[in-house]
Amino acid sequence: MHILGLEGTAHTLGVGILDEEGNVLANVMKSYKPKEGIHPREAANHHASNMLPAINEALETAGIVREDISLVSFSQGPGLGPCLRTVATAARALSLALKVPLVGVNHCIAHIEIGRLTTDCSDPVLLYASGGNTQVIAFSRGRYRVFGETLDIGVGNMLDKFGRMNHMPFPAGPEIERRASLAKGFVELPYSVKGMDVSFSGILTASLNSSSPLDDLCYSLQETVFAMLTEVTERALAHTSKNEVLLGGGVARNKRLRGMVETMAAERGARAYAPPGPLCVDNGAMIAWTGYIMYKAGCETPLEKSAVMQNYRTDEVDIAWRK
Ligand code: AMP
Ligand code: MG
Repeated sequence: MHILGLEGTAHTLGVGILDEEGNVLANVMKSYKPKEGIHPREAANHHASNMLPAINEALETAGIVREDISLVSFSQGPGLGPCLRTVATAARALSLALKVPLVGVNHCIAHIEIGRLTTDCSDPVLLYASGGNTQVIAFSRGRYRVFGETLDIGVGNMLDKFGRMNHMPFPAGPEIERRASLAKGFVELPYSVKGMDVSFSGILTASLNSSSPLDDLCYSLQETVFAMLTEVTERALAHTSKNEVLLGGGVARNKRLRGMVETMAAERGARAYAPPGPLCVDNGAMIAWTGYIMYKAGCETPLEKSAVMQNYRTDEVDIAWRK
């Protein structure tokens, strides 16, 4: 059996093909690179014009033809409306044309499930740190529950905006990481943890208004926001009595964030995990895999229920595939 998954919640169009054992046969990504912030309509146009080439490339990489696909899944939300609708339209068309079932997947949950598939963790607290999303999520009483989250923008969007204002290329995360390694000093920035939640807009404003050297600001920005994320992740571990942390989302590629989380985990006798890079960022393989385990648990998305959900909450989904 081959499962095709389509991802397209924001700037990345992803097409993944997996078999039922979870082997990733293809994981094609095409990213829209905005000059300013992401323009939803432009991103959606990017996804539309790359859809067919990306699907064909994935089929070719997997060494199969369209007719070999027996399940189609897609990211139903949360995300940018125009992008979600473009991808959902393609998923519906494929499912109808191939006469195979359709499964709509919650994007945040897919980040957890691909981590459970590709690392040794089984019941982790997920620190999901991406462009648009920042959440601390763990399984409890039949649902993936959000233990903490950003009260304003996603940590990645904050880094990208800081980078844009300082003339860095998009996405700015890797460049901020590089410049942080050149820093000579630390600049005090607002540390904004509110209970289990975090907020980034005040830190962004403070760092944009600072006249300190850019390398020092990059370093301080990383130290401050990654410490905040590590703190709420640790509190979620303590609260849930779990002993595994999983990292997910593009910002989780950052070595300093990984280091902080690993140190925190080690100090409390827990372990930290992260999927390999291409499965850590937004990708089609995670959507394909989550669609498959949902399907096995009896979930299917009939056409009339396949409308996209821009604000699809992680804790709305009944997790029928876990005890
Ligand atoms: P995603 O939304 O999960 O596709 O991830 C994209 C986000 O990850 C963007 O905001 C990037 O700036 C950020 N990102 C990618 N690599 C790094 C890195 N090495 N350090 C920090 N942020 C990163
Ligand atoms: Mg994501």
